[in-house]
Amino acid sequence: MTRKPMMAGNWKMNMDHLEAIHLVQGLALDLEDNNFDSEKVEVVVCPPFTDIRSVQTLIESDNLPIAYGAQDVSVHDNGAFTGEISTAMLTKLGVTHVIVGHSERREYHGESDALVNEKARKVLAAEMTPIICCGEALEVRQAGKQVSHVVAQIKAAYEQINSEEALKTVIAYEPIWAIGTGEVATPEDAQEVCGAIRQCLSELYDQETADQIRVLYGGSVKSSNVADIMAQPDVDGALVGGAALKADEFGKIVRFA
Ligand code: PEP
Repeated sequence: MTRKPMMAGNWKMNMDHLEAIHLVQGLALDLEDNNFDSEKVEVVVCPPFTDIRSVQTLIESDNLPIAYGAQDVSVHDNGAFTGEISTAMLTKLGVTHVIVGHSERREYHGESDALVNEKARKVLAAEMTPIICCGEALEVRQAGKQVSHVVAQIKAAYEQINSEEALKTVIAYEPIWAIGTGEVATPEDAQEVCGAIRQCLSELYDQETADQIRVLYGGSVKSSNVADIMAQPDVDGALVGGAALKADEFGKIVRFA
């Protein structure tokens, strides 16, 4: 089973809309200069909401081989939900991917497994791809419970999602202790949990379905460590934070092969 690798950049709360244009232009130039083949790797950037219109205009007008996503979405359709953004607003802007359940949303905004599931279903209903995040805190890893913790998150995230829908999802395993810390999981650590996630998917659905769902690794991925992580059989790409804010560095990550 060959799964097309995905390299997704999570810009978090960085880059205003002018900086966003500059970054996407730089990335596009880097990819073009290096004969990037978009058949081989799917590239996604996830800017803040305020940048999406500018990124859309640039990507569509220059027909760039880059998809763009949002970092979060509301479970509501419209109405009195101050500060929230709906799936319809995102689809209108041509957004194709939405990160759901990032550990920073879980930690700073109290997002529960149930809410993450609701968001994933909302994104699927709007025909976008949810990038469903999971991952353990340092204490959980120190207690040796990373696999059971992440498997429980995955089971909760996929409730009421059928196999046809599951095929349209992407998972990002991001150990919290490795996010933005420079502390990258070893390739074996990443494989242990990504392999367990695939095993869990095969139990929730079947092996054929599990074999088609991409599982990304995230946590201090850089151009210098991406190849070793990507060499793991159950790692199908990366969700990249800090290193996605530099066009040449993210370009190198995209061109890991
Ligand atoms: C992230 O927050 O999704 C992430 C992986 O960040 P970083 O690459 O900076 O660790």
